[in-house]
Amino acid sequence: MLSVQYNLKATENVLADPLRILIVDDDELYIQLVRRILQRIGNRKYDIRSVITGEDAIMQCRDHTFDVLLLDYHLPNMTGLDCLGSIRGGRTRKVDKPPAILCTAEGSESTAGLALREGADDYLQKAHINDNSLSRSISNVVTRHRLNCEIERQFLELKKMNGELEKKNREIGHFYQKMSHEVKTPLASAREFLSLVRDGVSGEVNGQQSELLDYALVSCDQLNRHFDDLVDMTKLDLQKLPLIIKECSLHDIVQRSTASCVAKLRERGGKIHYKKNSAIDTVHADQDRIVQVLSNLIGNAIKYSSECPEIHLKVELNSDAQKIIVSVADNGIGVSADDTQFIFDKLYQAGTASTDCLGAGLGLGLSIAKEIVTLHGGKIWMESEPGKGSTFTFTLPLKLLEKQCCPSC
Ligand code: ADP
Repeated sequence: MLSVQYNLKATENVLADPLRILIVDDDELYIQLVRRILQRIGNRKYDIRSVITGEDAIMQCRDHTFDVLLLDYHLPNMTGLDCLGSIRGGRTRKVDKPPAILCTAEGSESTAGLALREGADDYLQKAHINDNSLSRSISNVVTRHRLNCEIERQFLELKKMNGELEKKNREIGHFYQKMSHEVKTPLASAREFLSLVRDGVSGEVNGQQSELLDYALVSCDQLNRHFDDLVDMTKLDLQKLPLIIKECSLHDIVQRSTASCVAKLRERGGKIHYKKNSAIDTVHADQDRIVQVLSNLIGNAIKYSSECPEIHLKVELNSDAQKIIVSVADNGIGVSADDTQFIFDKLYQAGTASTDCLGAGLGLGLSIAKEIVTLHGGKIWMESEPGKGSTFTFTLPLKLLEKQCCPSC
């Protein structure tokens, strides 16, 4: 299992380490003063080095690691900020960039602002340096730097883990696709042979045998749909579900969607009432995918209804004539308020749906429907009253550019 280890040691107990300090100043007296102050501050240990030019400081930082730099602003050949820029230049990781306190003889708001803007971590006026100001500034700067380094370390770790998860996701996706192909091909043959036997091609079939063969065919179709859903889900996860947007007939979409559910509906003694309120006959969409969405909603309306499902399918135009609104209402078991918020989540199955309802699937249909509708620029939602029924509604913009598209294209 992948997990991020929080390295609290990196940020706590700053005082226990001997802090490696580099003083960069061309004023020997000032260096002595800082050394004396640091030695006086008894609650921590310091490993102090000092140099008098920016060039020496750059060399020191090339060869050694420091916890903090105390940089004079006016160095002989450069400013303290230029020196800091050279020391940090080209280093991309925070941990490689030592924090710095800029020290100046004169103090002004503008120098302080400039120092911080140009990358110094704090600013001290030499005239005001004392035990308190120096130890507080060093402690703050070092603690902040260590925290930043720890955040960066965790960020890089998460990035790496994310990359590994994405790779695993892709591998699972490819595995599902391969497995689906390997299963669906022999399944199609089995279905074909079963249907030949049921149709009496290999000899007379009595009523009971025919009924059993019908069940076998339904199971084949169900298995086929499960594999289609798995493959669609992985394509959506990989953002590789292409849409082929064309102008298509609303009538055809409704015909195909209802046709796929007619047998089930008849078996349950139910009815579909279709009402078309719009003057619109066509919509720009991926016809096969919208049929998939609508079939899923009608299929669910049948599946999650008691005897004699009464299904109301409505297609309307919204008030500004920019989109169509399709709704499927049933008189079924409904969805509880607790389940409503998760109903479009991948693999979610409300209450005891998976065990109570014959033919309940994998809990993927609605999440796929939502993704397909969203890819079209539409919205999908649900309203329900437990025990009385549910209404699933989705919208589709009327005008979408005709194209083949998927999010990664
Ligand atoms: P599946 O039907 O394969 O379980 P779906 O994603 O299509 O998966 O539906 C998710 C869940 O939402 C179902 O398991 C069921 O609990 C609930 N559900 C979907 N449609 C309806 C409906 N019309 N009435 C009541 N519950 C529904």
